[in-house]
Amino acid sequence: MNIGFIGLGNMGGPMAANLAAAGHKVTGFDTATVELEGLAIAGTAAAAATGADVVITMLPNGAILRAVAEQVLAAMAPGTTLLDCSTVDVDSARAVADMAAQVGIQTVDAPVSGGIGGAAAGTLTFMAGGPTQAFETVKPLFDIMGQKTVHCGDAGAGQAAKICNNMILGVSMIATCEAFALADKLGLDRQKMFDVVSTSSGYSWSMNAYCPAPGVGPTSPADNNYTPGFAAELMLKDLRLSQQAADGADADTPMGALAQQLYTQFVEAEDGLGKDFSAMLPRFENRGRD
Ligand code: NAD
Repeated sequence: MNIGFIGLGNMGGPMAANLAAAGHKVTGFDTATVELEGLAIAGTAAAAATGADVVITMLPNGAILRAVAEQVLAAMAPGTTLLDCSTVDVDSARAVADMAAQVGIQTVDAPVSGGIGGAAAGTLTFMAGGPTQAFETVKPLFDIMGQKTVHCGDAGAGQAAKICNNMILGVSMIATCEAFALADKLGLDRQKMFDVVSTSSGYSWSMNAYCPAPGVGPTSPADNNYTPGFAAELMLKDLRLSQQAADGADADTPMGALAQQLYTQFVEAEDGLGKDFSAMLPRFENRGRD
């Protein structure tokens, strides 16, 4: 396929490189200066999109996505496909799908999980929203960039799945960290705490696969001084998106709201910026009840 790839950052760069390595003709664009093996770099987003069968975007937020979509849709031919893999608000995903439909272009929103390591290794998970025909068109590309794809439903369903998952993750990481801090104060050994919880009803991905306590459980960012991994500010971004969606949908999400509040405090008023989101554990460790 001829592929235009807009947004060649930490995630988009390696994803585009994997598509090129698999034999696709990839033309990239980024507002920053980027050089990538196997890619032609265009001078504008529209130039990267011209002649493309599929244009992929991997951008920081919904406002930037909407602006870029306006530019690339004007350059794309009817019948081609716009695939957005960024994590953005559900409303922006649906707005871009509507804009595209008006000019005969099909869209898929497919945010990812798996982080920078998954992007480099081609092992991302994609959660996709959009019509079946559009999904089938881009499925072979998911198979190169990732190892698992779920077609979640219509436009916006991919973003909805992503923010619901990450709302659970934020809440469960906080619960795991505050429970470790309580266990410490009760004199319980952290390894014993892990041995019990990881095989009892308190188990979770946060405890079992990404344990926030250094030296306990499988290797995780906690063992590397909480170097991300998944940065606290990215978790905050996703929690904000989930609360924005909950507001719009009139959904009662008190735990998600509290998780957003705690990560806001951690990132903006404490020392969480630039740390892994599991660094909530030393935060709780150093606090009392007041
Ligand atoms: P990043 O900041 O490294 O990359 C974004 C890129 O977009 C940058 O290179 C930037 O220069 C470029 N850009 C910004 N505005 C642009 C424009 N108008 N036109 C063209 N390029 C533009 O971010 P990232 O870590 O690659 O994340 C990208 C998306 O993936 C985000 O939505 C993020 O939430 C999501 N995501 C990231 C991770 C992760 O672990 N980093 C995991 C899952 C999802």
